[in-house]
Amino acid sequence: MSAKKVTKIAVLTSGGDAPGMNAAIRAVVRTSVHHGIDVFGVARGYNGMIEDDIFQMYSKSVGNIIQRGGTILKTARSAAFFEPEGRKIAYENLKKRGINGIVVIGGDGSFKGAQKFSHEFDIPCIGIPGTIDKDIAGSDFTIGFDTAVNTAVEAIDKIRDTADAHDRLFVVEVMGRDAGYIALHSGIATGAENILIPESKTDMEAMIASLTEKEKRKKLVNLIVVAEGEEFGGGTQVGNFLKEKLPNADIRVCILGHIQRGGSPSCLDRLIASRMGYHAVECLLNGTHNVMVGIVDNKIKYTPLDKAIKAKQKISDEWLKIVKILAS
Ligand code: ATP
Repeated sequence: MSAKKVTKIAVLTSGGDAPGMNAAIRAVVRTSVHHGIDVFGVARGYNGMIEDDIFQMYSKSVGNIIQRGGTILKTARSAAFFEPEGRKIAYENLKKRGINGIVVIGGDGSFKGAQKFSHEFDIPCIGIPGTIDKDIAGSDFTIGFDTAVNTAVEAIDKIRDTADAHDRLFVVEVMGRDAGYIALHSGIATGAENILIPESKTDMEAMIASLTEKEKRKKLVNLIVVAEGEEFGGGTQVGNFLKEKLPNADIRVCILGHIQRGGSPSCLDRLIASRMGYHAVECLLNGTHNVMVGIVDNKIKYTPLDKAIKAKQKISDEWLKIVKILAS
């Protein structure tokens, strides 16, 4: 923690984009303006800091963006920021404008960069968790997850219609990298027969036995939701395996892909982004530095940036049991 007074703030989005990032940018800018603090946007993550793509923002700069997906600041992964020379240039570019506080909206990688930067240059940084994967320790919510999972639900509902029309088995792959939350939530919400996630081992033989039994009693519409990072290697591999084991079944694979990242953020994502953005600026101003602003049990929780790491939370056995019973 540092007691230095923050008078000028920079905000950036870094790593993968997530719907709701714009709502967070808006909250950071408007809360800063409210306090009479100058606020600057940085384009394309840490790249913009290094390439001096930094510009002052005003209340009107963030008008009409709360409902928009993506990020008006754009985002990137910056190889140069891994290097001490890159971070030094970034610091010089902030220093010449008198910027002495940073808000980073991104994932755990972005927080690692921020942590390193703040230690090297004694500049306080606040992290806001923005990732559709919901895999960061220290927050029940991450910006973008709710929108992504709702997009997945909408798409899977549509797939169910065509699966029903043709009596087909569909394997649907959803995003989440090595986290299974999008798969678990969207699978439960769409009544999937099976949900394959990296956090829990799937008994494939039991799954085949259950699908064979369903085939016998003419339950032909089956949805299997697969997380992209599950142990078999994703939807295509699971689909191929099922085709081999169930030669009479009409099996299709659908990979939802990047549509899950885009689109207008849900109400929940707009709310948490607004709340976290507001608190990020309050933190910088009241001396709570180098933390990630999270929400736990509906209360704001601060986690030191070095502890806000990628974390797989345990998926409760209760949910897995419910899935099995309800899909019979
Ligand atoms: P997502 O969860 O969407 O991947 P992320 O923030 O974890 O988001 P990363 O690609 O891991 O995405 O990190 C974003 C950027 O943060 C990197 O491209 C790099 O510029 C910076 N960064 C990450 N780790 C470090 C580090 N150890 N040192 C310096 N900078 C880092």
